[in-house]
Amino acid sequence: MTTEPLIGVINAGSSSIKFSIYEGERQIFAGQVDGIGVHPSAKAIGPNGEAISPPDLTTKPPSVPSETLPAIMQWVRGRLGERPLAALGHRVVHGGLHHSRPARVTPELLAELEALVPLAPLHEPHNLAPIKMAMTLNPELPQVACFDTAFHRTASEVEQAFALPYSFYEEGIRRYGFHGLSYEYIASVLPETAPDIANGRVVVAHLGNGCSACALRNRVSIATTMGFTALDGLPMGTRCGELDAGVVLHLIQQKGMSAAGLVDLLYRRSGMLGLSGISSDFRELLASDEPRARFAIDVFSYRVAGHIGSLAAALGGLDGIVFTAGVGENAAPVRAAICRACGWLGLELDEAANRAHRERISAAGSRVAAFVIKTDENLMIARHARALLA
Ligand code: ADP
Repeated sequence: MTTEPLIGVINAGSSSIKFSIYEGERQIFAGQVDGIGVHPSAKAIGPNGEAISPPDLTTKPPSVPSETLPAIMQWVRGRLGERPLAALGHRVVHGGLHHSRPARVTPELLAELEALVPLAPLHEPHNLAPIKMAMTLNPELPQVACFDTAFHRTASEVEQAFALPYSFYEEGIRRYGFHGLSYEYIASVLPETAPDIANGRVVVAHLGNGCSACALRNRVSIATTMGFTALDGLPMGTRCGELDAGVVLHLIQQKGMSAAGLVDLLYRRSGMLGLSGISSDFRELLASDEPRARFAIDVFSYRVAGHIGSLAAALGGLDGIVFTAGVGENAAPVRAAICRACGWLGLELDEAANRAHRERISAAGSRVAAFVIKTDENLMIARHARALLA
């Protein structure tokens, strides 16, 4: 019997770290540590989703996510016994201009990625720290960096350009786009899940805490709503999405806001949380009777539908829409509002199929098809790491 190599996947944020182990396409262990720096708490699941004892963080409570790596690696060794990890794959938010696919980690690559930190200061350092920690702990273990920007490197120069002086474009101030691992996963399953639209013009709406949408032609990204940073495009849980740059100037010039104050406002206090004054979580907003909860959802649905129209224009028409991530996979009323607003594009919703969270939610005969597909960024990372090893 041949056994598949075991691949570890790490997805590190500012105060949390998610980890999983794959054997081929199958996740056999997974877990996460949240609240790092405040009250770290770990949990883990086994092959059938059952709760299992997580890594032990009590001997040395971590103050940053990368400090959990020694305990996680020890826990992995305990779980896998004799079988070693073949590679560790990491989600890295920014790969810059030159990475259109994942890359094997070397000291040279790390130096190159360090230079990208100013492009994604809130995310990139947290992604790189566990790579460096794993290099120290186990220098022999191959590591692979998988970039959220890579999938969008196929977008045209016209799509990537801001209408700023051209020298800005040349120095890399351009639209990169993110959530690429999610879109790549969806693109990989379309031929099986939605064969009638897979090679056509499809907009994928990744609606989670972070939200963006991507235009796929023949499963290749040609345009996306996030830009230079993960702040642009659709409204999100706590991020504003598309915003007139003049608002930022006004806040600086008239209200004396600092850069740090703007970061806090635009990344952490805006979006659904800011509009509703209640929560960033759609479950709470959908359950609320407060008019502002309704208002926040209306703004969201209106903007998402508007951006879908814009992406349809980039595609020169539309054959299908795919909803994915936490909100896209679970919030039927939000999907319904977006689909109704896309009626003019030729999308007719099957309301009952939508309420039942079926895979195809467009009505029979709808000119534009609509699907709900669960995304799996970690599996995409595991696939990449396995392929690079081979
Ligand atoms: P992330 O972008 O952090 O990966 P997810 O894709 O897991 O986030 O999406 C998280 C969001 O999905 C939650 O904040 C919540 O708003 C939404 N969500 C999850 N489950 C449901 C549900 N059953 N109904 C409505 N919204 C949901």
